[in-house]
Amino acid sequence: MKNYHTHVAVPQGGYLCAVTRADWERVAAAPGMIPCFGVHPWHAAEVEPAALAFELDQWLARFPTAGVGETGLDNSPQHRATHEAQLLLLHIHLGAAFRHERTVHLHGAQAWGELTEILRARHRQGTLPRCLLHAWNGSHELARELLQLGCIFSVGLRELRHPRAAERYARIPEGRLFPETDDCPETWEQTLALLAALRGPLPLC
Ligand SMILES: [Zn+2]
Repeated sequence: MKNYHTHVAVPQGGYLCAVTRADWERVAAAPGMIPCFGVHPWHAAEVEPAALAFELDQWLARFPTAGVGETGLDNSPQHRATHEAQLLLLHIHLGAAFRHERTVHLHGAQAWGELTEILRARHRQGTLPRCLLHAWNGSHELARELLQLGCIFSVGLRELRHPRAAERYARIPEGRLFPETDDCPETWEQTLALLAALRGPLPLC
């Protein structure tokens, strides 16, 4: 099983996501990993959007198997001030992922509802790329809607240890929920074990 969202090259392989523009060279050069190019919403205010859009197009053309990300929205109080910049960058990433037919890795801390509205609107317009919602901790009702939009999810130890993990994740069908380690590669084995335990005898929907 590959690691569906990490920022550190790992032995099991998987999707290695950039956090800043300065990461792209390192991400592209990591052996055994699928590179993802993007700028994390925490750094949205640090980039010039038009230049980023241009470069993202170029890099995706150069790396035909690469993904897009990390991008998304973060509505937690310490990141709320850059909301407009985050939104603009999110649309740049979603547009590039759609045009190049790549998966986009989305961050949505305290913003799953807003993010779902954006994805729903793109789905209606026929411009929604394949989306992976990373560190997913939204409700099952929201997950059900996102599943209908074709989205997939990844979760790590932090999410799987939450008291509501079973309610949130056990009913997401096989093939739509994947393990990730984000910044903590040492959590891999435990993440796999908890994810397998969650699958248990509960019915899928
Ligand atoms: Zn991440």
